[in-house]
Amino acid sequence: MTLNFAPRLRAPVFTLAASVFLVAAYNNSFWQRFLVATGGFSISNLPMLAATFLLLVLAFNACLSLVNYRFVIKPVVIALLLATSAATYFMNQYGTQIDKAMIQNVVETDVREAGELFSMKMLLTVGLLGVLPAILVARTRLTFAPRGRHLLTNAGVVAGSLLLAAGILLLFFKTYAPAVREHRELRFLLTPTNYIQAANGFLKQKWAKPQVVAPLGRDAAKGVTWADQAHRTVTVLVVGETARAMNFSLNKYGRNTNPLLSQQPGLLNFSNVSSCGTATAVSVPCVFSALGRENYSDTKAHGQEGLLDVLKHAGFDVIWRDNNSGCKGTCARVAYEDWSEPVAGDPLCNSEECYDEKLLERLPELIRTAKNDLVIVLHQKGSHGPAYAKRYPPGFGKFGPVCNTNELEKCTQEQITAAYDNTILYTDYFLDKLIKLLRQSSADDGVDTGMMYFSDHGESLGEKNMYLHGAPYIISPPEQRRVPFMLWFSDRYAERFKIARGCMAARTSQSFSHDNVFHSVLGMLDVSTAVYNPALDMFNACTHG
Ligand SMILES: [Zn+2]
Repeated sequence: MTLNFAPRLRAPVFTLAASVFLVAAYNNSFWQRFLVATGGFSISNLPMLAATFLLLVLAFNACLSLVNYRFVIKPVVIALLLATSAATYFMNQYGTQIDKAMIQNVVETDVREAGELFSMKMLLTVGLLGVLPAILVARTRLTFAPRGRHLLTNAGVVAGSLLLAAGILLLFFKTYAPAVREHRELRFLLTPTNYIQAANGFLKQKWAKPQVVAPLGRDAAKGVTWADQAHRTVTVLVVGETARAMNFSLNKYGRNTNPLLSQQPGLLNFSNVSSCGTATAVSVPCVFSALGRENYSDTKAHGQEGLLDVLKHAGFDVIWRDNNSGCKGTCARVAYEDWSEPVAGDPLCNSEECYDEKLLERLPELIRTAKNDLVIVLHQKGSHGPAYAKRYPPGFGKFGPVCNTNELEKCTQEQITAAYDNTILYTDYFLDKLIKLLRQSSADDGVDTGMMYFSDHGESLGEKNMYLHGAPYIISPPEQRRVPFMLWFSDRYAERFKIARGCMAARTSQSFSHDNVFHSVLGMLDVSTAVYNPALDMFNACTHG
């Protein structure tokens, strides 16, 4: 190559070429892992793999087109080539994924340690995959159309690329959704997005102000119905996982998924309740906050106390029992018990996880020996996918044949739904067992007991070719947003809080949402505080006479 070498390229062609190069040259770690996640290489997989390649090229090209301007695009691409070649070296050499912690490691590595990371192999990789293509880019002479036409072309390329990418995404959604969910490492392997995202996260964390949690409802106190209390109360809030309302026979589903709850006297089933978000990380902090869906943001929710804190201020003891992946900050200032770790030889656990029934272990003892009024949150593993068949013990495989793999593309919609319905059948058993246990505690130990159950969000099982959950709320299908909601009280619990069952039963088909939970729990337990909004209390005028 002589220094006179100076190819000419039109700017839109240049970004496309750079995108192809980024996807093809640097991503062998990603492709290897992606093959594993999608069932290995085969001829029948070829169209999907080719489409995935195209999808990534289109996405990268859309991003590069946003900065496709004279004096901007070349430096950007050169920086990308150099940084991505280094990232590729580390991923290949150390088998590492690049995330926030990795960036922190690199930034905080001292010079001596850094020296050990440099090697001939690194110089070679960065030289061949970084410096050489960077020189080529530097020598390339880009031609730009006149200003107006260039802007129009850029906009067209961005829109066209995104549209085509969205088409591919929809076409292979059944393959992508479980692959990305079960193999979260994929997004840490796809470069250059991995280190850009990681660096962004690292800087955000570094510059974030220390979190000060604003107090909420410090004025909370037990209301008048508590004045002549003869018994302790225990209120259990069950937070379900991925249970969608429409697959409960209590909500008129075709299969009998609620053989036990449908026989449970006094159970109130609300059929028209929607969730705050379509993913656990949104719904759980949102439902326990006073913000409501419209005002909710992750930062606001973490910067302010929530329902469990208000209950604590009012004098309740609060315990969070978890068989899921934690309480997403909502239980930061109350007792927390992790029950998700499998115990060897325990019939309620398999080698990887425990069934939800585990959450009920030693619960009667806890209720009996508590000294104070108690609120217990049980956080289920519920119907978490895509491996639905792993969520229930063998005895609950009533519907079938079921999908036994997390590679949903290998299953029919009927098999996926059958496995999912078995998880609902198991939740039916779990809630029924809990209610029986609470009724027993009420009879044996003189404790007034009540239960509220709701799920965090729903699930798509192939409707409109969508699977799992997490769709952006405004375009999310009702399958992901409509959640089950149930209430049960012992007779004395209903009596002491003067809960008019008939009045509440008349509201079971009204439209409610997660926004109602915060105020309904306070209302139900007769907690008086300035943050309580009676207009959002589902049971307002049905309780306390
Ligand atoms: Zn969830």
